[in-house]
Amino acid sequence: MAFIGLGNMGGPMAINLQKAGHAVRAFDLSKEAVAKVVAEGATAAFSAQDAVQGAKVVVTMLPASQHVEALFLGKDGAPGLLASIAPGTLVIDSSTIAAATSQKVAKAADAAGIDFIDAPVSGGTGGAIAGTLTFMVGGTTAQLERAQPYLEKMGANIFHAGAVGAGQTAKICNNMLLGILMVGTSEAIALGVANGLDPKVLSEIMRRSSGGNWALEKYNPFPGVHENAPASKGYAGGFGTDLMLKDLGLAQDNAIATKASTPLGGMARAIYAAHSIAGHGGEDFSSVIKMLQKP
Ligand code: NAD
Repeated sequence: MAFIGLGNMGGPMAINLQKAGHAVRAFDLSKEAVAKVVAEGATAAFSAQDAVQGAKVVVTMLPASQHVEALFLGKDGAPGLLASIAPGTLVIDSSTIAAATSQKVAKAADAAGIDFIDAPVSGGTGGAIAGTLTFMVGGTTAQLERAQPYLEKMGANIFHAGAVGAGQTAKICNNMLLGILMVGTSEAIALGVANGLDPKVLSEIMRRSSGGNWALEKYNPFPGVHENAPASKGYAGGFGTDLMLKDLGLAQDNAIATKASTPLGGMARAIYAAHSIAGHGGEDFSSVIKMLQKP
């Protein structure tokens, strides 16, 4: 099988497939990213075209819509990867992208006799490493059944959201909520700390009270509260502010198109945009607490 896009998420996902006994041919534009996966037994491919040769299943984990569209459909006259993938192949795209892009690529794939599903994930880099991701799948029941044995090696929860693109819609609803709750959690901790409270004690109080949420459980934005959270590692790795900004933008695009009211989602997008402009786009999104802390 082929795996393309070996970043913070794709790298550990590819390693889990390889460890489960699938012979993974791995490709990324970054040689370092490829080397990490090869060190765990995968084979390095020279290009995306090389990776998919002979593959019955292809998994992609790329940053955004434009990367997925350019890879599969081509760009500036260059042919897309669909031309190199054999009919009958299953393509699982786990990137978080616009539902419309998933549908566009799926339509072209279908015309070439290729099964394409969207299967974005939740669970962070910790979930990718542990193989406990949640998959939100858009596609037919038969396509999901084909994907199941592979998804099970990377995740613990697999949901069928609906037809192709529906996984992406579920994903942006979830990430809009996550973006909002990380800002809210950061605000509450910053207020407590400004009043002299110990961030660990305050976080534990809120975790066990009605404010309890995923950030307080696993991903505290204050350094030193959770040893393995990006906040305790200089906000390195994890889920980049610019990726969160992308997802909140996708949610707002959708809200505009459907005339939905998402005031907090819009405000959260503006906060992460300001945080990115201030130079924190490459840091984990929980660094948004820096916007809210007293100097
Ligand atoms: P990342 O930036 O760490 O990795 C993306 C990788 O894709 C990079 O290594 C890059 O070199 C590679 N790439 C880009 N274009 C390529 C191409 N044409 N061919 C081959 N490789 C290419 O990003 P990530 O954190 O792994 O996130 C990937 C996707 O997963 C995003 O859509 C993100 O929104 C989503 N996601 C991330 C997290 C998280 O916690 N990091 C959680 C859930 C979902």
